[in-house]
Amino acid sequence: MDIDVAVVGGGAVGVTTAGDLAERGANVTLFERDAVASGSSGRAAGVLYDAYADAVDAEIAGRSMERFRRLADEAGFEFTQCPYVIAVQEGDDGADAIPEMVERMRAHGEDVTQVDPVELGKRFPLETDDLATAAVATGAGYVDPAEYTAAMAKRARAAGVTVREGTPVALAGPGDSEDREPGATVPTPDAPDVLATDPPALVVDPDGDATRREFDAVVVATGAHTPSLLADAGVSLATVPYRVQALTSRGAFEGPMTYDASAGVYLRPHPTGLLAGDGTEPVPADPETYDREGDDWFVENVREAVRQRADYEVDPERAWAGLCTATPDGDPLLGEVAPGVVVATGWQGHGFMRAPGHAERLAEQAIARATGDAEQLAAATIDAFDPTRFDGDEEFEIVEGMDVENR
Ligand SMILES: Cc1cc2nc3c(=O)[nH]c(=O)nc-3n(C[C@H](O)[C@H](O)[C@H](O)COP(=O)(O)OP(=O)(O)OC[C@H]3O[C@@H](n4cnc5c(N)ncnc54)[C@H](O)[C@@H]3O)c2cc1C
Repeated sequence: MDIDVAVVGGGAVGVTTAGDLAERGANVTLFERDAVASGSSGRAAGVLYDAYADAVDAEIAGRSMERFRRLADEAGFEFTQCPYVIAVQEGDDGADAIPEMVERMRAHGEDVTQVDPVELGKRFPLETDDLATAAVATGAGYVDPAEYTAAMAKRARAAGVTVREGTPVALAGPGDSEDREPGATVPTPDAPDVLATDPPALVVDPDGDATRREFDAVVVATGAHTPSLLADAGVSLATVPYRVQALTSRGAFEGPMTYDASAGVYLRPHPTGLLAGDGTEPVPADPETYDREGDDWFVENVREAVRQRADYEVDPERAWAGLCTATPDGDPLLGEVAPGVVVATGWQGHGFMRAPGHAERLAEQAIARATGDAEQLAAATIDAFDPTRFDGDEEFEIVEGMDVENR
């Protein structure tokens, strides 16, 4: 197979996809504007689970967990198996959703059980007096997201991928001028034809001199930058970046990963002691200028929630913010937006844990497009995630992605 594929973005999704493409025989160049893992993947919490009620999510997440376990050995990052508890406090309507949620998860073969608070308190060092109910998923674990992403970039390089860090790119369409000024933005002829290049798709690699390179397919995995990158190329994508937060705390924590659905806070063991997070700010954020530090209100929320749930006193080591991407229906945008241009974003806070499962689909879609294999393209496409299911100009509310009701 002699096909050239560009992957744009060196986060968990991009580096995993690049390696998967190279393993399947494509010639791959990965372009990262800064450094590998400099985006959301380097700021994530690394919580991994297969506990999804929706059938498509469950399949992707289950496959991702399988791959995390296997790739940990192959690529050389640490994977820690750890149960995941979903706890709902008394008086929270979410408690009513737990039995059906658990039943649906179990129907997908996931090892998830509903547990009453007394039993939960016997199994784990958690405070359970104020709980209405809980569910425990055993097919869960955690990794250090930056370590994973760096290890997978190394795996990609070993498979033959050219990784070009410090190289921002823009997408070009057939109408673009060859002799644009160095560093100039790509003109935006009338959408939506700008990218309809019928392979080869095009990537402009500025590299100081606005070099144009042609590829048979392009995978755009630029996280929170994806809407602006595509907008510059005339494609409107229905996704909005928003800010979420996490912190690490000193002081050992021996409990399970726990999501207190009523408090909207999750926690897990961490080498410094404990990692906790959420602090979703449901308003659009600018990927260039957003505040990367954790807010005081967030630290105080976490302090209170963790004290209540785990009888643990938070002693902050570091608090930070990063970006997630929301979509109108909470599902990802994964697939072709124009011939040969495959996007992957809109993870609603769950992009890291599903990266290995989605990466395979992205690799297969890109190869199918480049080789003109319509059957393989259809097989690799996830209809529910088709990015063109929205016009791109929808206005919608940013909804926290971990809710019990949204699983
Ligand atoms: C605090 C926090 C905690 C989280 N916890 C979890 C969790 O526990 N589990 C989970 O599943 N998810 C979690 N997430 C979400 C997760 O981080 C993201 O869904 C995931 O990392 C997205 O990966 P990505 O590869 O799509 O994007 P990114 O990691 O953002 O990578 C995109 C890359 O593209 C590069 N780029 C952008 N524009 C260009 C350009 N023009 N040219 C070249 N390169 C470009 C960027 O520099 C960046 O490196 C968390 C997020 C945050 C902020």
